[in-house]
Amino acid sequence: MMTIDPVCGMEVDEQETELQTQYAGKKYSFCSEECLTAFERQPSKYSRAAKAA
Ligand SMILES: [Zn+2]
Repeated sequence: MMTIDPVCGMEVDEQETELQTQYAGKKYSFCSEECLTAFERQPSKYSRAAKAA
């Protein structure tokens, strides 16, 4: 199932990636370790952006 990387906006297949984290009860998938790290630094910033998209 395709999902959106909340950091860069890229589509990510959540079955294919191990770059995932959970925040506020939601699962987020990332295209790269850089995006995962950025999210984990400021999850509130990026989770808000994802909701707006
Ligand atoms: Zn990304």
